[in-house]
Amino acid sequence: MEKLVEFTLGDEVIMKKPHACGTNLWTISRNGADIKIKCNACGREIMMDRLEFMRKLKKVIKNEETKG
Ligand SMILES: [Zn+2]
Repeated sequence: MEKLVEFTLGDEVIMKKPHACGTNLWTISRNGADIKIKCNACGREIMMDRLEFMRKLKKVIKNEETKG
């Protein structure tokens, strides 16, 4: 049961579980075989493989309008 989700560097994402700091908004800071996301509230970065990221991902918020 795989779902194809598109995301790019700089997109904001919401994960299924909130971070320890209470926020659930992250920004993708690395997009490759491994995905790195940065917590928007406390700045903590975590890295996980793509598969794990897809499993934990809830929603991608495209960030095109706020770019620049
Ligand atoms: Zn945090």
